Amino acid sequence: MDIILLGPPGAGKGTQAARLVDERGLVQLSTGDMLRAAAKAGTPVGLQAKKVMEAGELVSDAIVSALIGERLDAAEAAGGAIFDGYPRTGAQAEALDLLLAERGRRLDHVIELDVDEQALVDRVTGRFTCAACGEGYHDRYKLPAVAGACDVCGGREFRRRPDDNAATVRTRMAEYRAKTAPILPFYEARGLVRRVDGMASIEKVGASIDAILDGS
Ligand SMILES: [Zn+2]
Repeated sequence: MDIILLGPPGAGKGTQAARLVDERGLVQLSTGDMLRAAAKAGTPVGLQAKKVMEAGELVSDAIVSALIGERLDAAEAAGGAIFDGYPRTGAQAEALDLLLAERGRRLDHVIELDVDEQALVDRVTGRFTCAACGEGYHDRYKLPAVAGACDVCGGREFRRRPDDNAATVRTRMAEYRAKTAPILPFYEARGLVRRVDGMASIEKVGASIDAILDGS
């Protein structure tokens, strides 16, 4: 089972990927992590990548492909892989097809966690937490039972993250669209793209993904 998982920040992609790793024994192949790990482990490709990164240059597609090939050949990837942050371009998508085909594998699904931008803005901008115990609250969905006092610890001081604002969310969404725009049509043309409502609860999103993976 080899899949690509796509979703903008805030859609819960990390949570779902971690669950698939735990429950299905898939490995998550994120190119940034892979490059750092290979450089640290000192594999031949890793050392090559390290040199390029230390020179402040972009790691070439050829190196990334070699790295992914290395990871796919590792025993832990036998059960399947979740590609995260790769491919980014049509050329990389074609390279990935080839890498998988060389190993008698193919991409099974491209799953995109769909979010409504305005709903995501509403969700993110209302968040705040208790400064003392960290309990999470929301302006619209979960206010403390007694105004101004934490339900859990009674604390009266609350915090908001400075990057939880509408402009940040909209910028991240635009970045996400720009990153996926080159590859979605490639996979859509092959009928591989499946969309899941990323605004649903974590459990519902998980169940939808499972239904796709189990072919039901
Ligand atoms: Zn508290």
